[in-house]
Amino acid sequence: MADDALRAAFDELRGRLIEAGHLIPCGVDGVYGKSAEYERVWAGVGAAASRLAAPDGPVLCSFPPLLPRVTFDKVEYVRNFPHLSGPMFSFRGDDRAHAELIRRLDEGQPYADLLQQTDVAFTPACCYPVYSTLTKAVPPGGIVFEHHSYCFRHEPSPDPMRMQAFRMWENVRVATPDDVLDWRSTWLSRFAELFDRLGLDARTDIASDPFFGRAGRLMAQGQRAYQLKIEFLVPVFGESEPTACASVNYHLSHFGELFDIRTADGDAAHSACAAVGSDRCVVALFQRYGMETDTWPSSVRAVLWP
Ligand code: AMP
Ligand code: ZN
Repeated sequence: MADDALRAAFDELRGRLIEAGHLIPCGVDGVYGKSAEYERVWAGVGAAASRLAAPDGPVLCSFPPLLPRVTFDKVEYVRNFPHLSGPMFSFRGDDRAHAELIRRLDEGQPYADLLQQTDVAFTPACCYPVYSTLTKAVPPGGIVFEHHSYCFRHEPSPDPMRMQAFRMWENVRVATPDDVLDWRSTWLSRFAELFDRLGLDARTDIASDPFFGRAGRLMAQGQRAYQLKIEFLVPVFGESEPTACASVNYHLSHFGELFDIRTADGDAAHSACAAVGSDRCVVALFQRYGMETDTWPSSVRAVLWP
């Protein structure tokens, strides 16, 4: 699709969501308030995913949408995705620096150089907080965690499917390579079933993360060659521009080694995560069935609110 046509499609869908009150613009692309009905759909998507996860007996946990900077740096987020990252800055100066800050604010001048980096960063993906809590042997059979939270990625866009603050629902499996691979194929089937029942016409594709720069292109090639990331793509803006609404990622022993997580036999654990872009699913559902959930097919309503 030509850039102009795609931009018009973004504006059209975002306009309808805003007019219906489902997205409440905050003045910056990709940051929205949401209507009660939007939140009801969002909760329904998460609950449907949780029901699919239930046979694995996941450990439910909750983390704030902030990562300690040590973890943020350990997972190499700024190294690999500097353009998406959200390290957090605050003021630590004295009265003199504060006076200068106020002067700049009064004059509408930039003040970033008066701020200093804090010990936290916005969480860019749901699974990162989990690994740092696991620096010991996982039980025989491994472990599954379930977590959902707001994530931040600095990618302002008029596309209502691409937010800066968005929610992700995730299950994370940490276990032996065989167990993790089995679990990954189970989730490929579960997501296919979920999108099928929601009538969202998803297809899968091998994908890569948006690593920065020339070095990043090599990393992305490696990720594709080993088929480590598989996305469920929904044609919200047409078949030629489908949007990833869920993904299944296999990390090999990357996090096991990084956080010294061992399986019962003492080897570095392998890990994978199954992630639903729950805000994306909500927008895709509104686009597919219209702004009034009362008129949605009963089969879809039954998946969200059984
Ligand atoms: P990823 O870690 O990139 O595989 O992201 C997991 C899921 O989060 C993706 O499959 C998307 O559905 C969703 N997601 C990623 N980036 C965004 C974004 N900017 N806005 C909304 N949802 C997103
Ligand atoms: Zn993940």
